[in-house]
Amino acid sequence: MSKHVVLGDRVNASVVILREGVLVIDTSVDPDGARQVQAEAQKHGEVLYVINTHEHGDHLAGNSLFACPIISSAPARKRMEQAKASALPAITFSQEMELFLSEPVMLKHYGGHSPGSAVIYFPKRKLLFTGDLVFAGRVPYMGEAVYRDWLAALTELEGWKVDTVVPGHGPQGGKEVLTRQRQWLEEYIEAVRTWTAQGLTPQDIFNQVLSRHQVVERWHPMIKKSIELIQHEFK
Ligand SMILES: [Zn+2]
Repeated sequence: MSKHVVLGDRVNASVVILREGVLVIDTSVDPDGARQVQAEAQKHGEVLYVINTHEHGDHLAGNSLFACPIISSAPARKRMEQAKASALPAITFSQEMELFLSEPVMLKHYGGHSPGSAVIYFPKRKLLFTGDLVFAGRVPYMGEAVYRDWLAALTELEGWKVDTVVPGHGPQGGKEVLTRQRQWLEEYIEAVRTWTAQGLTPQDIFNQVLSRHQVVERWHPMIKKSIELIQHEFK
């Protein structure tokens, strides 16, 4: 019974099976993925709530397929509304929220990756869904990062009792997934700051990043933005 299913390759969407029904955490990136999430959820019972980890569109494709209420952080809902998302959350929280189901479910807002980024935690299972606060095994999307908030979130989560971490992208793993993401971000920030202090131009810094990390071309503008954000935040 104590079970969860993670669907996803490009982006993770999950179904958590509880005694009284299921929770869906994020609803995939495109219509095909969305239908898979819906089919998987229906296999296990009534869908009680859809929870969106944050507002980025690649996590919301199937929102409109579910009749149950959607839950997100308040900042995430605000951004979804601005982006004219097709199905908006009916329930929001600004800092923390707890669902009193057959087992407790805790939601906490952090920001960092995006203004609305939150995590979902099942303390009895020591199971944590981080949304895009964690990209496992790949360069994270940092196009609107607030790095200090992001690092503070990961540092706090590393102190929680967690056996299983389901990231927003990439395979689930143990607690080390959190530590790896924090260290990756720390090293990235440190490298950009060092190159900046050495007088490298933004273009040179961008080239340094590309020589060290695999980044798909459509994310090149994101990398440039991430460098700007570091230079702005750590002046
Ligand atoms: Zn995201």
